[in-house]
Amino acid sequence: MAKRCSFCNRDDSDDIKILANEDGEAFICEYCVEGAYSIIYGEENSLKKTKNTEKGDLDFQKITPKNLKAYLDRYVIGQDRAKKIFSVGVYNHYKRLFRADLEDDDTELFKSNILLVGPTGSGKTLLAQTLARFLDVPIAICDATSLTEAGYVGEDVENILTRLLQAANNDVERAQKGIVFIDEIDKIARMSENRSITRDVSGEGVQQALLKIIEGSLVNIPPKGGRKHPNQDFIQIDTSNILFVCGGAFDGLEQILKRKLGDKVVGFFDESGEKDKDLLEKIEPDDLVHFGLIPELIGRLHIIASLNELNEDDMVRILTEPKNAIIKQYQKLFAIDGVNLKFEEDALRAIAKFALERKTGARGLRSIIEEMMVDLMFELPEYKDYDIVITKEVVCEGAKALLIKKKIS
Ligand code: ADP
Repeated sequence: MAKRCSFCNRDDSDDIKILANEDGEAFICEYCVEGAYSIIYGEENSLKKTKNTEKGDLDFQKITPKNLKAYLDRYVIGQDRAKKIFSVGVYNHYKRLFRADLEDDDTELFKSNILLVGPTGSGKTLLAQTLARFLDVPIAICDATSLTEAGYVGEDVENILTRLLQAANNDVERAQKGIVFIDEIDKIARMSENRSITRDVSGEGVQQALLKIIEGSLVNIPPKGGRKHPNQDFIQIDTSNILFVCGGAFDGLEQILKRKLGDKVVGFFDESGEKDKDLLEKIEPDDLVHFGLIPELIGRLHIIASLNELNEDDMVRILTEPKNAIIKQYQKLFAIDGVNLKFEEDALRAIAKFALERKTGARGLRSIIEEMMVDLMFELPEYKDYDIVITKEVVCEGAKALLIKKKIS
């Protein structure tokens, strides 16, 4: 029988270590041991930190691309190929960092940064966030469209590193092994092939500035972010071991690939004319030049993984399957009030359809459910004696949820 932590209710099905007391009646999992340790000895002495520093950071011997992907599988639905490419890329990146035995070797391993191509809400940011959690490295997430060249209105590119440093609790060493995720990289295209008279401060200028930090350099950053002042102290960050992951939708890329592949593309479309998922896997760096990305920047993003648009089945799985799935979270919230919450399959499908209509990928799911549950949550404490069932009518017509009186045994 699965053991279950008496504090947080985690079970041992996910290789989580759980200790039992002598008579096997009380249990505690490794996370709660860690939590208890930092309550007693303070956050700065937390077990996790001591564990890591003792071992020289992450215990890399235990990490393989397969277990990286297995971890991603728990949180990210579908996107199998992208998860595989991403796991291998991340594994190779951190191999350079954590394998001390490679240090004496003359062969220098170059760093490879990663480009994730896929529609909005398909899981690009989620991939990067999940990996950072698994590796216990800091992550900074930013949007390329908010960046401008230093000195112009908008955010300086170096502020990304300030954010990373903050995510690393101002520990420079840790920040230098972190991950930076830059979304919407396709939206900072240079304005045109020809240089214009007006300066292109949010296009090519930003790309050049990004290039500098991505390719690995020593960057002076203002510790608190914001603009640089001449009299300010700077912190120096070496970016050569920071993993940069860029994301973008690259709308219209399929057309470009279709044109490029010409006749060969016939096989990529099924009879209904629907695009075959594999088309995006044919991306080569050259195809991205059409989007106004400078070749030097593309050249720094060696690994390209493409994510598919999510379909209705994926959406239903996203609602229910990941470890922290939205439906599981609601069920937990209801359970605290003693109420069992159930969603009928039709209801889940209807929610998925609404999300597809909004065209914001899986991002729309949460807000749809939140809107729908407000009234029910408002009255929840009064429903202790009931099980609640969400039907398709609740989702589509705003009908009341079914209340089923609990049997008293
Ligand atoms: P983007 O591709 O625009 O970066 P995100 O990764 O930010 O999209 O996705 C937004 C939210 O949608 C995530 O926080 C997650 O809840 C959900 N989501 C998106 N794609 C997936 C997926 N493949 N599996 C599970 N959840 C997903």
